[in-house]
Amino acid sequence: MLNEFSVIRNFFSKSQFRRKDVMLGIGDDAAVTMVPAGQYLVTTTDTLLEGVHFKQGTDPSAIAHKSIATNLSDLSAMGAEPSWINLSLSIPSADEEWLETFSGKVHELCEYYSIQLIGGDTVKGNLAVTITAQGFVPPDSYLVRNGAKKNDWIFVTGTLGDAAAGLAILNDELACATNSNRLYLTERHHYPSPRVLAGTALRRMASSCLDVSDGLLQDLQHILEASNVGAVVNLDELPVSKALGETVSELERALELACYGGDDYELLFTVPEEHRVSVESAMSSYNIQCTRIGQITGATNKMELRLRGQSYRFDEVNKGYKHF
Ligand code: ADP
Ligand code: MG
Repeated sequence: MLNEFSVIRNFFSKSQFRRKDVMLGIGDDAAVTMVPAGQYLVTTTDTLLEGVHFKQGTDPSAIAHKSIATNLSDLSAMGAEPSWINLSLSIPSADEEWLETFSGKVHELCEYYSIQLIGGDTVKGNLAVTITAQGFVPPDSYLVRNGAKKNDWIFVTGTLGDAAAGLAILNDELACATNSNRLYLTERHHYPSPRVLAGTALRRMASSCLDVSDGLLQDLQHILEASNVGAVVNLDELPVSKALGETVSELERALELACYGGDDYELLFTVPEEHRVSVESAMSSYNIQCTRIGQITGATNKMELRLRGQSYRFDEVNKGYKHF
């Protein structure tokens, strides 16, 4: 049975992506890194617990992917470019096959996103993964939640509701006619893509931004409350993937997934008219799907949903996921 030190040595301290701004990585009492002159350091942490955020028996590569992706998504929503991660791992036993797959994914993503794993902690306990991610942003260009102004346009990247549909499929609550749709939707649940490029492209152009983790409407509400504004959301405009549209043909159910489904990790942001064209062309030049779904109003904290020009209410409101 491996001890803590051999787990670190065998799985986490070798063959990883190395950055020039890491003076001292894994192996000492703490890491030493260099923040580029004149840049701000942005830091975020997220914990994934077995039984809460992922089911028992989930593929370790999906656990590694999701724990890194959720953190990079938070950095993206701040407009930050990711640089380093720390990994605090609680595992019930040193299962070598599990650790090989898990750490393999961690190293693969570090290389893909050019980030370095600079430290962490390894303890015995119920399965839990905590990642702390850090990145840089130029002064005064980080993206916040409280800057939305009346008449700003509301945009979202990618498509909505896929991850929630994928989870419903895994839980046998949603039937899926084709294997390719099933694969697409469940992969969107297990392997979300953080919008790193989109986040940095929105610096100085978006008036507010966050990542959609708890469902579009619940997350939009955070912007409205922080900014003291209201919003009109055109449900007809909500971006729904082909796979979701084919799997959930009933309009109301598809809209509900798009509005309340969590874990999509798309960016939701507001843009003043003066920056709208620049944002649209930046997104299209990066090949990032980006849809205008509504507009900010002066009606504080009030959200109006519209479908075919009429005010719309969901019959049975299944609000975004809450832990407590
Ligand atoms: P300490 O007893 O000082 O906390 P540890 O033995 O926990 O030190 O860690 C030794 C080194 O290994 C440190 O550099 C720490 O950051 C790193 N480390 C421990 N666990 C992990 C992990 N799961 N992933 C990456 N680095 C880790
Ligand atoms: Mg330790």
